[in-house]
Parts: sequence; structure tokens; C-alpha cells
Amino acid sequence: MLKGKTAVVTGAAKGIGKAAALAFAKEGCNIVLNYHSSVSEETIQEIESCNVACLPVQGDVSDFNFAASIVKQAKKEFGSLDILVNNAGITRDMLLMRMSEEEFDSVINTNLKGCFNMVRHASSIMLKQRSGSIINMASVVGVMGNAGQANYAASKAGIIGLTKSAAKELAQRGVTCNAIAPGFVETDMTAVLTEEQKEAMLAAIPLKRYGKAEDIADVAVFLAKQTYITGQVIHVDGGMVM
Ligand code: NAP
Repeated sequence: MLKGKTAVVTGAAKGIGKAAALAFAKEGCNIVLNYHSSVSEETIQEIESCNVACLPVQGDVSDFNFAASIVKQAKKEFGSLDILVNNAGITRDMLLMRMSEEEFDSVINTNLKGCFNMVRHASSIMLKQRSGSIINMASVVGVMGNAGQANYAASKAGIIGLTKSAAKELAQRGVTCNAIAPGFVETDMTAVLTEEQKEAMLAAIPLKRYGKAEDIADVAVFLAKQTYITGQVIHVDGGMVM
């Protein structure tokens, strides 16, 4: 169903982004793989081994002009932009009373402004095409809040508002926009947590296991195949938020 389509995945060198890029490649999509600092040759080869093309593009999604250029490159290379997964994200955890301006700004700029930049530029192509699926990576933290993550929670709550607004604006031309709210997924982002923090997380997960990057990637593929779901936040969290 997705064969021959073009999927742009941001922050796709590792973790959830890499799993999503691979999942779309397995569906037959050509991949525009945005990476920030570096991407391994093996990752690109793994994608290409699915008999699809992979265009690696280095850059920072918080840069408005870079976001425009990646969208332009996708269209030029593959002729369309069908799926956008806004996955790039960072954390800079700190209690609110001690949080620096830089810690707040950097998380908002990468997570929320980066998502806006990509949606802003990709949607103009998708509106002209009269088709497209945008999938934004939110978090359960954007719904529940979390001590020590006021910056991150604000960015993810912002992504949910952005997703619903974009869904309303883009629906008239058949373009969908949804968010995924993962719970605790085992990636480099969560590897920095202490054993105590991880155990507390596990205790709060009814399904009693951490999420895998593939659990999130599978839902991204599912959403990209739907034409009658928009403006939704799909929780993929083992039941953390009900
Ligand atoms: P990860 O392993 O740390 O991967 C994040 C990726 O984003 C990295 O490849 C990183 O590249 C890239 N990135 C960071 N800043 C960027 C920028 N300015 N421009 C482009 N790319 C950038 O994290 P993850 O766990 O896979 O998280 C992926 C997404 O899921 C994030 O939005 C995160 O907030 C969300 N999420 C994760 C969890 C979880 O439990 N892991 C839960 C809920 C939501 P560099 O390393 O090169 O900077």
C-alpha cells in the first residue's frame, strides 16, 4: 500500500527514528533520512537492502531554512513527499526552579519549533498533491507532565496542539496529521536514567515491559496507511495513560 511512496523521517540515525525509517523501507517507501550529528553506513545499507532508495540529509530541524531544504530535496529526488515523521527530539532535564533559559529554549527549539518547521514546509507540498500523512512524535509526558521535564513536557504538549491545528487546516485537501505519544521506550534517550528511575517507570506500566522502538514504528506505519484518522494522539505506552 505504501510501495513507491516517499517518507521523510527526522532524527533517524538511531532509536525510534531509525526503526521508523526501516519500517517504512520494509513497506517499499523511499527514505529521506535526516540525521543531526552522524549516521552509520550500516544504517543506510540496512535501509537500501529493502530495495528502496535512501537519501541521507544532515541538518538541524530547528533551522527554518534547513527544514525547507530537506523538503525540497525530497521532492526533487523522488517527485513527491507522502509521509513525514517528525521524530527528532532531545531532553535537557532539570527541576523547574533550577532550569536555565538555555535548557528551556534548546528543548523547545528542537522538539516544538523543529516540528513546526517541518510541518510548515511539508504541508505546502502535500496540499498541492492533495495527499499526505504527517506523524508527529509527542510523549505521554506532554499529556501527564513530569517533574524535572517542564521544558520537554511543554514541547510535547505543544506538539499535540500543533498536530490538532494542522489536522484541521489540512483535512480539506486530504492530508492527515496525527501524533504518537510513546511511553517509556528503550533508546539512548532513556538509557541515561538511573536503575531506580527505570524501576519506577516499569511499576507504572500495566503491560509490565518497556516499549521497543519497533512498537512505535509499527504505529507510524499504521497511521500512514489510514485516510480517515486525523488529529488524533495515539498512546503507545503499555497502558501508562488511560
Ligand atoms: P534518541 O535515541 O536520543 O534519538 C533522537 C534523535 O534525534 C537522534 O538521532 C538525534 O541526533 C536527533 N536529533 C536531535 N536533535 C536534532 C535536531 N536538532 N535536528 C535533527 N535531529 C535531531 O531518542 P528516541 O528515544 O529515539 O526519541 C525519538 C523521539 O521519540 C523524540 O522526539 C522523543 O522525544 C520521543 N519519545 C521518546 C520516548 C522514549 O522513551 N525513548 C518516549 C516518548 C517520546 P543526534 O544524536 O545526532 O543529535
